Amino acid sequence: MSKRVLAASIKHETHAFNRLPTTLAHFKAQQFALGDEIRAKYKGVRLEMGGFLDAAEKYGWEIHHPVCTFATPGGSVTDEAFEFFLGHLEEGLRRAGRLDGVALALHGSMVTQSHDDAEGEILKRTRAIIGKEIPVAVTLDPHSNVTRTMALHANIITAFRTSPHVDQYETALRAAAILDRAMKGEVKPRVYLARRAALNAFDSARTYTGRGPMIEALRRATEIEKTENGVLCVSVHSGFSRSDFAEVGPSVAVTGDGDHPRYQALAEALMEFGWQNRHIQTEKVMSVDEAIAIARQVTVGEKPLIVGDYGDAPGGGAYGDSTSILKALMDAGIKNAALAAMYDPDSTRKARAAGVGSTVKLTLGGKHDPDFGGGPIEVEAKVTALSDGNFVYKGPYGTGTRGSFGESAAVDIKGIQVILSTLNKGIYDLEQFRIFGIEPTDKSVLVVKCMQGHHAAFDPIGSRSIDVDSGGLTTIDIKRFPYRKVPRPTWPLDDI
Ligand SMILES: [Zn+2]
Repeated sequence: MSKRVLAASIKHETHAFNRLPTTLAHFKAQQFALGDEIRAKYKGVRLEMGGFLDAAEKYGWEIHHPVCTFATPGGSVTDEAFEFFLGHLEEGLRRAGRLDGVALALHGSMVTQSHDDAEGEILKRTRAIIGKEIPVAVTLDPHSNVTRTMALHANIITAFRTSPHVDQYETALRAAAILDRAMKGEVKPRVYLARRAALNAFDSARTYTGRGPMIEALRRATEIEKTENGVLCVSVHSGFSRSDFAEVGPSVAVTGDGDHPRYQALAEALMEFGWQNRHIQTEKVMSVDEAIAIARQVTVGEKPLIVGDYGDAPGGGAYGDSTSILKALMDAGIKNAALAAMYDPDSTRKARAAGVGSTVKLTLGGKHDPDFGGGPIEVEAKVTALSDGNFVYKGPYGTGTRGSFGESAAVDIKGIQVILSTLNKGIYDLEQFRIFGIEPTDKSVLVVKCMQGHHAAFDPIGSRSIDVDSGGLTTIDIKRFPYRKVPRPTWPLDDI
């Protein structure tokens, strides 16, 4: 008899200090599918749900999939949105009848208006319906705060092993393989969690630099899986430092077969390695001035300089409207540049109303919180393109994923092409320029609002790739945030 599995994905990365709540509309604008439409939207897409669907075929599961969603990172998820998705998950669990297993793709740093540990709440309420015996597999982002509640209710935890996260699909297959063995009664997985009092460790999960604490931790994790009897999986999490609650921080989760104190010791040893190397960051995040000095050296005809706006990354929960890099480029007279994307609905509408070929005066960006990343700048902009803002990733990151800037425009400001959007969206793929007729490989300087995810698609077309702190809401200077709930002392807020 084929095994019956329920698979669902409810994901959000929540920035505790972003003032804008994340609503149901934000989820609907990015990734949102219910029931039968999930297969049509996600089969063949290199995300976790694409992996679960393929695993179902491989293992002959009967698969139920009530909900698949995620929104651009931002402020707290509203209770309305959370209960909407939880309601679909709970109804799906009840309607599925007898289940043999559950596979959940979560992020690991979602916070809602009512729940600091939203993933813990999802798992608790899943257990309340299915009971204690049915195995639950969970995939996570490594930028996650894994809580004791999550570890208690999940049987299997495994996070992505790349950052940029180009292995979301493979991570689902890894979770599915262990889940299948558990459903057949071959193993009895349990999660053992080790944590430390820090906001961040393991080099912020970077793997694209090819060296550093995350690379070494993953090497050791693989070694443990190969050599330690009973260890089914080792998962490494850097933490998500822009959360503010009791269980923020890095962790290691060992999924072991059955109960044994050795699993906890293995998790503690690898976590201790992360703690000892918490200071190491393999990418220097430079100042805007340093970046401009490098941009001045670029000559037309060279491959583009890739400038990651690390400090104002929508993918990390920032507002996406920091002006400090754009202003510095303009002041330096740098031309043949392009920037994606400025989240400014008001300016976008003005540009769209004026139409292609018109010149408009805009008070651009910096409107959400001028203290983070600079206030609005007055510009004259020539409208070069309008778009519905919809794109499909064609590069290595989440290949096949659909996303949107909403109704949007491209404008030229003194030789810098700037994409203006009505939805806040991080930059991961060359298509996000190309839908506006901007060919990224022809540019001398490309500014992309992203922390790490862009490195997969953009570094191969660049002459050099630098990360810059524009001072936005994802600034590296986390001491600027007014943490209230994180237990003290914790590193690096306290000198421990
Ligand atoms: Zn991440």
